[in-house]
Amino acid sequence: MAKNRTYNRRNILIIIIVILLATMGLTGRLVYLIIFKSEDYAARARALHERERPIKAERGKIYDINGVELATNKPVCTISVIHSQITEPERVIKVLSTELGLSEENIRKRVEKRSSIERVKSNVNKEIADRIREYKLDGVMVDEDYKRYYPYDSLASKVIGFTGSDNQGVIGLEVKYEDYLKGINGTILTLTTAYGVEIENAAEGRITPQPGNDLYLSLDVNIQKYAEQAAYRVMEAKSANNVKLIVMNPQNGKLYAMVNAPEFNLNDPYNLINEIAQDYVGENLSSEKLNELLNGMWRNACISDTYEPGSAFKIITSTAAFEEKVVDLNDRFFCPGYKRVEDRIIRCHKAGGHGSQNFVEGIQNSCNPVFMEIGARVGVEKTYEYYRKLGLFSRTGVDIPGEANSIMHNIDNIGAVELATMSFGQSFQITPLQLLTATSAIINGGRLVTPHFGLEVKAPDGRIIKTLEYNTTDNVVSPETSQIMKELLEGVVADGTGRRAYLPGFRVGGKTATSEKLPRRSGKYISSFIGFAPADDPQVIALILIDEPVGIYYGGTIAAPVIAELFDNILPYMGIEAKYTEEELKNYDVGTFQVPNFIGKTKKEMKDLLKIYDFGDVYSSGEGEVVTEQFPLPGDSVNRKSGLVLYY
Ligand SMILES: [Zn+2]
Repeated sequence: MAKNRTYNRRNILIIIIVILLATMGLTGRLVYLIIFKSEDYAARARALHERERPIKAERGKIYDINGVELATNKPVCTISVIHSQITEPERVIKVLSTELGLSEENIRKRVEKRSSIERVKSNVNKEIADRIREYKLDGVMVDEDYKRYYPYDSLASKVIGFTGSDNQGVIGLEVKYEDYLKGINGTILTLTTAYGVEIENAAEGRITPQPGNDLYLSLDVNIQKYAEQAAYRVMEAKSANNVKLIVMNPQNGKLYAMVNAPEFNLNDPYNLINEIAQDYVGENLSSEKLNELLNGMWRNACISDTYEPGSAFKIITSTAAFEEKVVDLNDRFFCPGYKRVEDRIIRCHKAGGHGSQNFVEGIQNSCNPVFMEIGARVGVEKTYEYYRKLGLFSRTGVDIPGEANSIMHNIDNIGAVELATMSFGQSFQITPLQLLTATSAIINGGRLVTPHFGLEVKAPDGRIIKTLEYNTTDNVVSPETSQIMKELLEGVVADGTGRRAYLPGFRVGGKTATSEKLPRRSGKYISSFIGFAPADDPQVIALILIDEPVGIYYGGTIAAPVIAELFDNILPYMGIEAKYTEEELKNYDVGTFQVPNFIGKTKKEMKDLLKIYDFGDVYSSGEGEVVTEQFPLPGDSVNRKSGLVLYY
């Protein structure tokens, strides 16, 4: 009995211990759940009942200097499916495949996927999306979205840039001004049952998206178009690799145009342009190779590539020499066709030599020995001081990502030979934009400006959010040297190697260059011309680079006329009037002419007559068949390119 009792007591003890342990375990588990896991469970519970969907913010627009839209947005939609809400899967598959032009198999995969929400297609046209809404299909979501759209396709493509799948900037100004442009996405919060079905009209929270701010540029669509036309014409005529052309206001650094021909289509940026694709016809490009080619296609070479500036750099050498007062306009030089520097014979481009000449003639002839001589007079230390002042050791600070810097000799490694070649623009590299900026400082009275496109950021309601400001450094060149350089460079165009940039009525200054590409004697050249107008008060400066022209490659022959053609178009557009000198009136077919009597002429006769007379814009009005009135009146003396009004 006692034994039995003992047994029982032990038994009870074991039972008690087991119960205690079990209770402790449960309590522990409970404590653990309450203390450590409650957050997790609450979140999971909420997720069952609420669903958050983003509402895309509209990206800010980009405008040119006249308020013309360069980048805007098209309303598009994103179509998604929610597995748990679909009541008629077969109908959903049928409708979406028909409307979206996707295979049924493709859509079935998404419809049958047990995920909270599955994107079927984005960038769907609004009309198609509206039609899909009309079907009122359970579990099919149509969300408003925006697609970036560039009205001018390829215009200034490497400047403006484009956006990626989430509307974020990928290259160009779209990247630089991302923070201003992007806006803030909103959200829609929908309540759902535990099965994921959205509860209609149940307290739907909504955080309204904030659209991005608009960006206003100095780029001028019309100047960019003129520049692109001019660049493409010479690129095709000379079978060149590419043509770069930059147009800027030298007084303040506002960039009016930047051409990198061939451009690409901003609305189709992942498709190789013909100029590139033609070299790979029939080839299966690896994704690596394709990426490399795309990056090349998007590259803004005006700011990202360096080159030897060649003779255009004589502008900088001359400036340093005048600042240091080591040369006078009347100094005489003798060019036998070369100059001996230490043990080297360095040749002039004119094999027989330019003979005896003063400095003015020296720059008009672009004679290498003259510049080797004055470069040596300035010396290494001072030369580098002026390079530094003119910004040639630093990036210009232009507001486009990816700017390169110059490649210069280490000052300790510059001997007489290096200094000689540097003075006519060889043995170092700069970007085209660095040359344009340095030359601007030389001709604008001595102010180093920061080239830029961005002017202002405005809210969608027009409020100014930010006026963009840029550094300028005054007095990098004295006003006296600036004045001399303007006159000398006007002389280069009037009487020197730049004469093919001469434009009657407009005073154009400039400098030609023909740079041999490396390795030397490969027969590959870059022909260039830098020009500005009016020479006495420069309002515009332009630099063109023609890369590997076929046939004649002299900058003075093929690059200078392109700038003349460009200026002929854009100077009147910019409100700069032609003023002809007596000599120009005598030598060129310019100036005034007498207006003939057009009264009584038929429309057909007028068509032929207008080909003979040099009127500008001709305005016609009235319903008649013959001219009944005209202005200016017959016999009036008018300037060429004047307007004519005809009443029929
Ligand atoms: Zn010479």
